Amino acid sequence: MSNTALKFRPQLFEEFIGQDHIVESLKNTIKNNSISHAYLFSGPRGVGKTSTARVFSKAINCENGPTVNPCNKCRNCVEITKGISPDVIEIDAASNRGIDQIRDIRSNAQFLPSYSRYKVYIIDEVHMLTDAAFNALLKTLEEPPSHVVFILATTEPHKVKLTIRSRCQHFRFRPLSIKDIKDHLSNVCEKLGIKHDDASLEIIAKLSDGSVRDSLSLLDLVSIYSNFNINEKILKDIVGFIPDDLINDFINGIVEKDFKKIYFLIEKLYNTGIDVGFFIEELINAFRYILLSKNNIQLSDKYVHFISYFENYQLQKIIDILFSLLKEIKSMDKNRFLVENTFLYLMNYRTFVDLENVLNRIEKLEKRLGIELKGETVIQLIDTKELETNKEVDRKVTKDININNIGEKLEKSEKLDVETLWKKLKQKIAEKSPKWIAIIDDVKDIKYNDKGKELLLIFSNPYEEGFFKKEGELNKQIIDFFNKFEFNIKKIKISVEKKIKEKDDINIVELIKKEFNGKEV
Ligand SMILES: [Zn+2]
Repeated sequence: MSNTALKFRPQLFEEFIGQDHIVESLKNTIKNNSISHAYLFSGPRGVGKTSTARVFSKAINCENGPTVNPCNKCRNCVEITKGISPDVIEIDAASNRGIDQIRDIRSNAQFLPSYSRYKVYIIDEVHMLTDAAFNALLKTLEEPPSHVVFILATTEPHKVKLTIRSRCQHFRFRPLSIKDIKDHLSNVCEKLGIKHDDASLEIIAKLSDGSVRDSLSLLDLVSIYSNFNINEKILKDIVGFIPDDLINDFINGIVEKDFKKIYFLIEKLYNTGIDVGFFIEELINAFRYILLSKNNIQLSDKYVHFISYFENYQLQKIIDILFSLLKEIKSMDKNRFLVENTFLYLMNYRTFVDLENVLNRIEKLEKRLGIELKGETVIQLIDTKELETNKEVDRKVTKDININNIGEKLEKSEKLDVETLWKKLKQKIAEKSPKWIAIIDDVKDIKYNDKGKELLLIFSNPYEEGFFKKEGELNKQIIDFFNKFEFNIKKIKISVEKKIKEKDDINIVELIKKEFNGKEV
């Protein structure tokens, strides 16, 4: 830990930043004398978990306590601050993962504290313990001696067994905001007499990723190099802050599809020791500005000149890709290849697919070809023809039936869809003339197209359609029948449904390629 970080390690509850909810609860347990035997402190690194554990240990062990304001002067307080108290034992589970260490704790915990009120075990990174060690710890937590307090700290609470978690009072530490850290740094600079400008502190806060500890280490480094006069220029020289022109160059490389350029920019990025994660974040910000500007929200005019090179969906996709890259490089050592590969992919942003557009075009294609893509088989309508609807055509079949009378008898009050009406029509016809129904039954499906004002009768059997073709009077009556129920049909079409296998009669791939002017890639 850096000198400044050590110096500003909180020694009192009041000195913690950004964790008010936790500090208040802990103070209450002390005030109400309701100290628990096991606590779990979880949260990102550098937000004050172990510091809180130490201050809490002092609060319950201070000779003038238990108190929410430990004196920091008595023997107990001083030893805890120095980390040499025999009764406050800190264990780093990352390096002491085994069952033996936990067994030691178990046997030692039985003995009374040397001269404090409580024996406190602070186990840092507790999720790193082995299974056997976890089980041994669990046994201790099940029957803790009354003088023992466990404080388990972890950055990954989900990796701590539920049986352990359920025995602890769980406090979730928040990641600190850039503003929290910036305010804290400003405070520290005041106290140490370090000259600074606002922009520099903002950069340090951003670079430390929510960790006070990291921000103080960086402040330490920069203030020494800058002879206690921090400014943005010196800071950029030291930490390799991302200049806007580097971001510009990268976006240009993507737009120009110039991998050689990007390759050398990545080289520059790694050679100058710029934090790659921070760079990617800044690049995401730049693309966000472009996306917002493109949609008339202008937060900055820095990257406005790029808006004409990208569509909305391309920008969204680029941002998505960069976010995944950011997530991955944080958990990888050798991430340069991943970065190169990602930029190689981003360069081809013009081939990114606009899914909404594709779906619309497929729908259009289906409509135009009269086909529906259904699983493995393709249904295609063939021989679509408009029917005659005049009375002069042969009327030998319909002469003794008047469909309109059937229509009159149905209840008009209900709003009926085309299928229901067709069913009712068939039912009535069947009652009057069973001969007819054999033919009408061949109509497998019926559709009403409001745009074309047409009724489409779809046959499964191509041979019976001839009947409808000849029956001008019947067809006219069908139209009249439907129009009595708020339809507005002008013509009837018939079509025959044909099931074909994808590979046989129709080549879907060819059709799609034609629709999208496409070629295989
Ligand atoms: Zn004290």
